[in-house]
Amino acid sequence: MAAPEDVVKRVSDLRSAIERHNYLYHSLDSPEIPDAEFDHLFNELKEREQQYPELVTSDSPTQRVGSVPLSAFSQVRHELPMLSLDNAFEQADLGDFDRRVKSRLAQEDSVVYSCEPKIDGVAVSLLYQDGALVRGATRGDGTSGEDITANVRTIQAIPLRLLGSDYPRTLEVRGEIYIPKADFMRMNQRAVSEETKTFANPRNAAAGSLRQLDSRLTANRPLTMFCYTVGLVQEGPLPDRHSDILRSLESWGLRINPLIEVVDGIDHCLAYYSRLQDMRDDLDYEIDGVVFKVDRIDLQERLGLLTRTPRWAVAYKFPAEEAVTVLEDVEFQVGRSGVITPVARLKPVTVGGVTISNATLHNADEIDRLGVRLGDRVVVKRAGDVIPKVTQVLPREGSKRARKIKFPIKCPSCGSEVITLPDEVVARCTGGLQCKAQRRESIRHFASRLAMDIEGLGVKLIDQLVQQELIETSADLYHLTLDQLVQLERMAPKSANNLIEALEKSKQTTLPRFIYALGIAEVGESTARSLTQALGSLDSIRMADEERLQQVPDVGPVVARRIFEFFNQDHNKAVIDSLLQSKFTWEELDDSAITNALDGSTFVLTGTLSTMSRGEAREKLQSLGARVSGSVSKKTSVVVAGESAGSKLTKAQELGIEIMDEDRFNEFLKTHGL
Ligand SMILES: [Zn+2]
Repeated sequence: MAAPEDVVKRVSDLRSAIERHNYLYHSLDSPEIPDAEFDHLFNELKEREQQYPELVTSDSPTQRVGSVPLSAFSQVRHELPMLSLDNAFEQADLGDFDRRVKSRLAQEDSVVYSCEPKIDGVAVSLLYQDGALVRGATRGDGTSGEDITANVRTIQAIPLRLLGSDYPRTLEVRGEIYIPKADFMRMNQRAVSEETKTFANPRNAAAGSLRQLDSRLTANRPLTMFCYTVGLVQEGPLPDRHSDILRSLESWGLRINPLIEVVDGIDHCLAYYSRLQDMRDDLDYEIDGVVFKVDRIDLQERLGLLTRTPRWAVAYKFPAEEAVTVLEDVEFQVGRSGVITPVARLKPVTVGGVTISNATLHNADEIDRLGVRLGDRVVVKRAGDVIPKVTQVLPREGSKRARKIKFPIKCPSCGSEVITLPDEVVARCTGGLQCKAQRRESIRHFASRLAMDIEGLGVKLIDQLVQQELIETSADLYHLTLDQLVQLERMAPKSANNLIEALEKSKQTTLPRFIYALGIAEVGESTARSLTQALGSLDSIRMADEERLQQVPDVGPVVARRIFEFFNQDHNKAVIDSLLQSKFTWEELDDSAITNALDGSTFVLTGTLSTMSRGEAREKLQSLGARVSGSVSKKTSVVVAGESAGSKLTKAQELGIEIMDEDRFNEFLKTHGL
């Protein structure tokens, strides 16, 4: 039975509608209809196609996932080679690039560049014929890759049929398939709980997912894509600027990165680079640098290629964050609360321009998980200012030199027993006050920059003071005399004097600093600020019971118990009282600041802020007592919407939640003294 005309039309309308909503949801992150309504459209299409199988086409949204696994991937020859980019590693290289471009073009004016984040994913090519996706291929060696059509079809962000009608007859689109960081974490967590293979990073996970012979498996992986250029184009003109081509791609339903910018001149490229470097950790996808492309296509053509590398583009990579080196030894450090941390002593290696010879191994469980032994070749990773860590062990060649790491049963500093409490992963020295390492570490924390900021009181000096038993606690620092200090090794009278002055100066401080300096487990700077803002004075904080403490934003039951226990231990009481006798001063907060304007309110941050990173914004809000959540719901008080805010903004509008743009948000922070 042939399908009646009205059904044919309905099927076609359904497909267009589904494609459009799919695009709004996956590419623009701003759905117009609720999920249930989308499902409804999708199910209707499925039913109609079941009723009239002759209406099923391969580009129907119902046909994304194939049912027969492949036995192998076939090879695809790229009609136009997929080029690789020239790399710039430092600012000077970028300057050279710009000079070469100008000199080849015989141009003195600044060049207009398109600036794009360099996504750390898997490069692929998509071929559209008459608007239908006919082929997906990996980059391979640039000349030929693998045919992964069945797998790319399962990715919702990739349209099976282009939107609109003004696309070229043949259109090859290139871009990067990746897995968002949050999805990657979830994927690995699930793998751990199901005891299947975990992936080292999102890029490996994306590559592994694309190389499944059974596309039903690929369909379950959270893959998505950003497109960044075109390859083969036939029958149909494209705009004459790269940035406009990207806009066309977007209008045809392909996903384009929202951070792409067009700038005039190389200085602006540098500014863009710094901006993205700052944003890097807040992005939901991994980037390993930025790419600059000459925006005008006619200029690109004049510049041409140098073998396989275009002369009109350059990748400026962020400093490498990983390197391979050898684990030479493991040392066990005792922290201020007795926690014993294994520290890897590494053969020195340069990572992102910094030489690294130590990395943390966290705890005994982590050593087991990594399966690391002495003499192993390991991958160390450095991210921002965080302490480098060992992330991976490379396969051993022969087992002779790989010795097992023995976790100590006695404290390396005081010889006391080391125990692991049943509800903790960390091992602790039980020496308490007798343990010089614990004393030294707690004083070091007390003097540190974010705490009392005592200039000239370094680790070596603290060590001497503790070893010679001139001080036992941080309070003793303020009883040190000039005579005692000048007798120390390498201590000139002038430095001794300076130290006494620095100690004196440190007494003028703020309450949050003082609280933080006490070194209460789990109480960082922001918790110290929350405590101050919620409770107002040191006395109220010292007197608060666990119940009251739990009402402080950011303070859960565990932290509340730690704080309560801390202030109720005789030793700590004595140290604090002794410190207070040295007459510390801080400004008392007035009532309006204490009542904590944002107490109990929930903020959601979305989009990109230009004046601060999302992390900074989060901290500021938390310091005022607000909760910061990742998703918009009825309980949300305010949504802060930066540049290119997507679905969260739409949702906030739907729910009638207060929305602040960046200017208003800054104003708002100002009125709260930030
Ligand atoms: Zn100890």
